Amino acid sequence: IERTFSIIKPDAVRRNLIGNILAVFEKNGLRPVALKKIKMTRAQAEGFYAVHKERPFYGELVESMMSGPVVVQVLEGENAILKNREVMGATNPANAAEGTIRKLYAVSVGENSVHGSDAPETAKEEIKFFFTDDEIV
Ligand code: ATP
Ligand code: MG
Repeated sequence: IERTFSIIKPDAVRRNLIGNILAVFEKNGLRPVALKKIKMTRAQAEGFYAVHKERPFYGELVESMMSGPVVVQVLEGENAILKNREVMGATNPANAAEGTIRKLYAVSVGENSVHGSDAPETAKEEIKFFFTDDEIV
């Protein structure tokens, strides 16, 4: 059993899609073991995406993550990291497979509705960025 970190991004929360997206996770064997709705500060958004600091879209990405509330969560399941990446679909919704969250709900590469950790080390770091151990049940 594995854990991964997930964000339901502002574009999806704004369109009232929290429940629909959680349903996709649950249908695919991903169990939310920690979950909270927050509004990211600039420091949180910049820190979370620090790996993308040099990318041309960094400023836009930070602004968009601060543009409204998000749902941060820890998802648990068999091969949760890879499973979550599959269920999310390609970064650009134009390339996302049928039935994936980004195919169903994303608007554009910038407003692509969800984030998911890409590897065990990043999952661990990202979970720690938003949750304490006692919040994970
Ligand atoms: P995430 O890390 O959010 O799960 P990802 O791993 O599929 O997504 P990354 O390459 O890590 O994609 O990019 C992080 C985020 O930056 C993307 O989810 C997207 O919202 C945004 N992004 C990526 N490329 C672009 C782009 N060309 N223009 C605008 N935003 C972008
Ligand atoms: Mg990524």
